[in-house]
Amino acid sequence: MGFNSLTGQETVKSRLKDITAAPSACSLLFTGPEGIGKHLFAKETAKAILCMDRKPDGACGQCASCKYIDAGTHPDLISVEPSEGRKNIRIADLREVVRDAEVKPQISKHKVLIINADKTAPDCQNLMLKSLEEPDEHLVYILLCSDTSRLLRTILSRVTELPFREYTDEQMLSILKDQGGEDLSDDKLSFLSSFSSGIPGKALSLMNDSEFLEERDYIFDLVMRMPKLGYTDVLYDEFNYFDKNRDKMDELLLLLIWTLGDVATAIAVPKPTDLKNSDKRNEIIKFVADNGEITLINISNAEKAVTDYIDASHVNASFETSCCNMLLRIHKELRNEKNR
Ligand SMILES: [Zn+2]
Repeated sequence: MGFNSLTGQETVKSRLKDITAAPSACSLLFTGPEGIGKHLFAKETAKAILCMDRKPDGACGQCASCKYIDAGTHPDLISVEPSEGRKNIRIADLREVVRDAEVKPQISKHKVLIINADKTAPDCQNLMLKSLEEPDEHLVYILLCSDTSRLLRTILSRVTELPFREYTDEQMLSILKDQGGEDLSDDKLSFLSSFSSGIPGKALSLMNDSEFLEERDYIFDLVMRMPKLGYTDVLYDEFNYFDKNRDKMDELLLLLIWTLGDVATAIAVPKPTDLKNSDKRNEIIKFVADNGEITLINISNAEKAVTDYIDASHVNASFETSCCNMLLRIHKELRNEKNR
């Protein structure tokens, strides 16, 4: 129970244990990328503040207050998100929430207001600022933000910022296993973890996206079979795959870069350990052994074809031309045609 039930973010946790022990009129700002766990920690923080039998580690998890929070019905915990179909929180909605928050709490000693600050326009921020300048004793603000440059500087100067850090591979594995990934191999989980840059929310959504691991397999196999493909296979079948998945191009390109990078690692190091596709290590080693004529220069040229595609896409070049061009250049390098 309490903060110790959450994985990682040890610095944040230890500060939250102190802060929630005497939370009067405090205003917190949780910062970090989307999916890093700010909402989860905000809920645990609210639980610790509102708990009727607080333990040194935070909430007891047993009292009426803790149970109300678990059920999502605590009258003194208010969570503010944009109403359905809206990009941002409406100022009228926020005004009402702030007015209600000023009224004394119903069952706990405090009221906690969790606001998704990423969804606040400057008018809403000005409204929050007034409340932050003269906070009610019972009121605790928790603002969640992934991009502090969008917040008014005056807000930043009134809050205690708690920055969230990316999780280590080991922590990510434990989180993913707890959240339904227990049947996946450690290598696959480790791949999801690095692809998501240590951000659990991102890794979890990829883990639950059945198409993602299929896409990864497709791109990986594409690189593996490239040397055997003919010119027209590349131009039709392979291009069609990218064309069909245009909306996922960023993901596909990153997978492509990673697989090419793994091949480069295996060319440079006889027994590679540091591979992104670590679950496919044997296939990569076999590919390099079977295609001894591919050099690091070929791989670097193939990677350059991908970055050139990205540059071209920024200047709105035709998708068809630049994607075919990229695939043909990679094909040429992996067939190492100059040496044949
Ligand atoms: Zn409790």
